[in-house]
Amino acid sequence: MTGDIPFFDLAAMTREVRGTVESAWRCVLDSGRFIGGAAVEEFETAWASYCGVPHAVGVGNGTDALQLTLTALGIGPGDEVVVPANTFVATAEAVVLAGAAPAFADVSQHTLLLTPDRLEAAITRRTKAVIIVHLYGQMPDMAALCRVAERAGITVIEDAAQAHGATWQGRRAGSIGLAGCFSFYPGKNLGAFGDAGAVVTADPALAKRIKVLRDHGRVLGSHYEHELAGTNSRLDALQAVVLTAKLARLDGWNEARRSIAARYHAAFAGGPVRAIAEVPGARGVYHLAVVRVPDRARVQRELVTRGVHTQIHYPIPCHWQAPYRRFENRTLPVAERTADEVLSLPMFPHMSDDQVARVCDAVHEALAGEEHRVA
Ligand SMILES: *Cc1c(COP(=O)(O)O)cnc(C)c1O
Repeated sequence: MTGDIPFFDLAAMTREVRGTVESAWRCVLDSGRFIGGAAVEEFETAWASYCGVPHAVGVGNGTDALQLTLTALGIGPGDEVVVPANTFVATAEAVVLAGAAPAFADVSQHTLLLTPDRLEAAITRRTKAVIIVHLYGQMPDMAALCRVAERAGITVIEDAAQAHGATWQGRRAGSIGLAGCFSFYPGKNLGAFGDAGAVVTADPALAKRIKVLRDHGRVLGSHYEHELAGTNSRLDALQAVVLTAKLARLDGWNEARRSIAARYHAAFAGGPVRAIAEVPGARGVYHLAVVRVPDRARVQRELVTRGVHTQIHYPIPCHWQAPYRRFENRTLPVAERTADEVLSLPMFPHMSDDQVARVCDAVHEALAGEEHRVA
């Protein structure tokens, strides 16, 4: 088999839902109801039920899901929110957009996720909440983290933007904290054909407040009366029907990701490539297949010569990005060290067995330091 192996390929997922989406889009066009309406409510109900919580509120994107949750909880200027340093920048960005300050915490050297100790170390008198990030699609020990949060009297928010369908002790990502925030950016495990997001929660008052905030602070059920200064972050019907169509396939796609990850784990068990350790009790959905390698730049170059395309999540720890340096108040050795080691291998549900095998071989060759020879 020849041909380059892309880092990610959306085409086969799009093909699977294309017929369903095209007829659903025709219905939306006929209905003339583009923002909110029955299609959005249908997806919200389905997503809440999938996550095992009573409420889901569709919003414009994952960043808004986080920011609106913080704002709805009254978290803003003068408050701190603990955020793991190893995350996509949007987690910290949402805290700043809400007017609060991110307090960066280091992560476990085994899972690269937040730990109870690191959380505890980052809590101050100003801390109001922690955003636990299920990075790469894996959930940390939620019971231990929630115990620390409860003792400190702070709110637990889950950033589940990479973890649609992941579980910890059988409970879905997003359903354990007071709120779970999702992005449906096209490349996520559940992705729209554009931007979209949602907040799930068991708290009816919080769900209601986010519904008000996402729609210009408008009193629910009213047209002219506004109770809050909100924003415009609504889910549209064209995206909602895409998400409903794809949700029917999410578990199957996640299973495919898990079996690809299992093959990577088996192939690299002998080192020197190190896969991210699985958390006991967690069932990850492998949004990303992250390994740690020595001499990453060289390995990445070697892989390209063998037609294997990789990415890095993330080469610059969040607290070192320009807008967040002013919040940095301690060194975070694990996040800082692993930023130079992590490498994300190709991962998408429709990867063929042959493609997985070729990635494994290419990684072994690249690490053996063999020069790629052109025949
Ligand atoms: C994608 C992502 C977000 C932001 O979602 P958008 O829809 O792009 O705004 C937030 N947190 C994490 C961990 C993400 O991966």
